Amino acid sequence: MKAIWEKAQKLISERVGGHFYDLWFRPVELSQIKDGHATLDIPNRFFKEWVEDSYPGLISDVLKEVTGESLKIKYRMSEKLDPESRKLDNQLENRRTRLASRGIYLNPKYIFENFVVGESNKFASAAAEAVAANPGRAYNPLFIYGGVGLGKTHLISAIGNVVVDRMKNFRVLYVSSEQFTNEVVHAVRHGKTDELKAKFRNLDLLLLDDVQFIENKTATQEELFHTLNVLYEGQKQIVISSDRPPKEIKNVTDRLRSRFNMGLIADIQSPELETKMAIIHKKAEMERIALSEAVVEFLARKVKSNIRELEGCLIRLAAHSSLTGSPIDVEMTKNVLKDIIADDTKPLTVETIVKGVAEHFGIKVADMKTKKRTKEIALPRQVAMYLSRELTDVSLSDIGKNVGGKDHATVIYACKQMTERRAADEDFDRMLESLAEKLKP
Ligand code: ADP
Ligand code: MG
Repeated sequence: MKAIWEKAQKLISERVGGHFYDLWFRPVELSQIKDGHATLDIPNRFFKEWVEDSYPGLISDVLKEVTGESLKIKYRMSEKLDPESRKLDNQLENRRTRLASRGIYLNPKYIFENFVVGESNKFASAAAEAVAANPGRAYNPLFIYGGVGLGKTHLISAIGNVVVDRMKNFRVLYVSSEQFTNEVVHAVRHGKTDELKAKFRNLDLLLLDDVQFIENKTATQEELFHTLNVLYEGQKQIVISSDRPPKEIKNVTDRLRSRFNMGLIADIQSPELETKMAIIHKKAEMERIALSEAVVEFLARKVKSNIRELEGCLIRLAAHSSLTGSPIDVEMTKNVLKDIIADDTKPLTVETIVKGVAEHFGIKVADMKTKKRTKEIALPRQVAMYLSRELTDVSLSDIGKNVGGKDHATVIYACKQMTERRAADEDFDRMLESLAEKLKP
């Protein structure tokens, strides 16, 4: 066992790097391999969560390389749970079992009780609660949109979990739009469209996640349009999430877009400081992590908007603290999270802005810097020039050099364009505002 694990650890260390290896994988032990299962001893549950979230499949892949066998991973915790945590864990397990027995792929943790409501999400969450209380009767469809990691999947899943808890015979389906697309393609290719229809049209509740994925996909849009029609006419509830509002989803047919617009559209904004602090408190309470007010505020200020990232930070802190036995304070927080949290002693650079903007628009940094003139790149480039002008003291010509070798007149022109568009287009204005907020150290 020891030799296997040593080999595996070496491979893991090569793949994840020494820093992560020391923090997360060194404390793990392989205790047995039996009946197709490998049992790993871990110090506490943060390890399981973090390792599974950050490196899904890594351990089983590596064990397969070493042993030649496909093994399922089991975890064994040395930490004992207190009664309250055990109760919560049991509730979770029960819901997990219920979901599994009905074949519904919902995360059992995504429930309203765990969702912190603040200014930024109160409209969307109230709408979701109304729909959960009265599916098919309140708002149909409910369309929730907002940026990455702001709780869309959590909210729409919460609707599903309420319904599954309350209604035994309700047919519920959660599906990502990517999976929906794959199923459409597969069905068309293999002449199985009847099965597809049977699956997606005989439902009481359809939860369709990340619908922006269907941009440009004609066959999928066609199928989705008819699916939504059938459900809508049967007064079956439809809930859709997207990273942008219907009007900004490109290359989608008008009739499908008008379906999206027929019910209620609710957005989730980036959380304000208070909401972020409340979320950190909630997560810390759920995971029984002791945090001082100073640490809570520090984290809320430093982690810009993405709540998923906030959770990642908390888990890392908790693991570090349980390993070293020292309490979490601001010093430790800075230290443990130094590769995640921006250092505000250094001024913001054009480089960082270009990177952040490229990430936001889902394009490559390298493309921002070329002279390419395609539309997909022109706008991000203008945004980057504008934000560099607003957020740094770098000269116009130096900004231009960093963004596709433009001269200073081009930078001025970009700034003017962006200013005008901000004044004319509310969504654009909001997008720039939150992007700027995210970039500021
Ligand atoms: P999205 O689908 O918008 O990208 P998710 O729903 O996956 O985001 O949320 C990312 C993580 O943040 C999830 O673990 C979720 O539980 C958590 N989260 C987001 N918003 C909240 C909130 N208001 N309260 C508690 N947790 C939240
Ligand atoms: Mg999501």
